Amino acid sequence: RAKRQGRDCIVEFSVEEMEDTESRLTLGRSLRGAVQRGEMELHYQPQRDATSLALTGFEALIRWISPELGRVSPARFIPIAETLGMMPEIGEWVVGEVCRQAREWLDQGHRDFEIAFNVSAQELQRPGFVDQVRDALSVHEVPASTLNIELTESSLMENVDRVRRTLAELRAIGTRLSLDDFGTGYSSLAYLKQFPIDKLKIDQRFVRGLPYSDDDAAIAQTIVVLAHQLRMRVSAEGVETGEQAEFLRKLGCDELQGYYLGRPAAAPSASAFFPAAQVTATGDASESLQNA
Ligand code: C2E
Ligand code: MG
Ligand code: MG
Ligand code: MG
Repeated sequence: RAKRQGRDCIVEFSVEEMEDTESRLTLGRSLRGAVQRGEMELHYQPQRDATSLALTGFEALIRWISPELGRVSPARFIPIAETLGMMPEIGEWVVGEVCRQAREWLDQGHRDFEIAFNVSAQELQRPGFVDQVRDALSVHEVPASTLNIELTESSLMENVDRVRRTLAELRAIGTRLSLDDFGTGYSSLAYLKQFPIDKLKIDQRFVRGLPYSDDDAAIAQTIVVLAHQLRMRVSAEGVETGEQAEFLRKLGCDELQGYYLGRPAAAPSASAFFPAAQVTATGDASESLQNA
């Protein structure tokens, strides 16, 4: 254990803490300029209707492949990017890339899908955020209802009045809004009903123990009832087994997402999640009809 003594204080920190500080610095250095160097990529995880298992859309999840550090999880680098003030840049790239991909899929003839993407508290608070979304939509000529913005409870609870105005603007444009990781943050139900949220996403922590954990079952059921009472849709994250999917469908959950329903994949592979009939517009299906 290292010890540093000042006149009035003694600061102790462990080797792990030192290593962590060092690796955060290294990570921050590599992160600078990573977007421009093309080190970021979006992977798309399917979201499905709980009853029919038909594709309803995707969640875009950022991937960073650093030449120095290899693959770094967003759970690790996003908080560091926030501290270093890099989120505006990363966030702008994400929304642009999501719209570009949406346009590509629309051009290929795919319809009736939405793409959800994650927005951190800091991004939501930034004055230029709504304009960024509006610009990306118009540049790529994508209908606003294609976008579903995933927010967390904590990002809603900071500067509530300001956030309320931002969400109203986003809704006016026509984008949809989801509350991610629901049940893990702390948000007030009194506020929740005032925000124009379309979907609650049950956090995977409550899905993991299903169907055997009575506590998880009680929590999942309560969130489903709450969402529907507030006229919101509800989806579950982290669904890994058929048993969990079936249990959540019976609870009345509208949508499912998780490895059981499909893993996140880069766009070319993720395209395979679209129903085969939709390929008609590109000519592939008519070819196979001719061959039949
Ligand atoms: P999230 O938005 O709650 O995303 C769900 C996470 O669960 C993703 O981790 C996903 O890969 C993972 N996941 C999906 N299905 C399963 C499953 O069945 N089992 C398990 N164990 N995990 C599953 P990922 O991609 O590592 O992302 C972690 C977090 O990083 C995200 O949590 C989100 O908060 C943040 N994030 C990801 N992309 C972005 C982004 O573009 N911008 C911002 N601001 N945050 C992002
Ligand atoms: Mg999310
Ligand atoms: Mg989540
Ligand atoms: Mg999460």
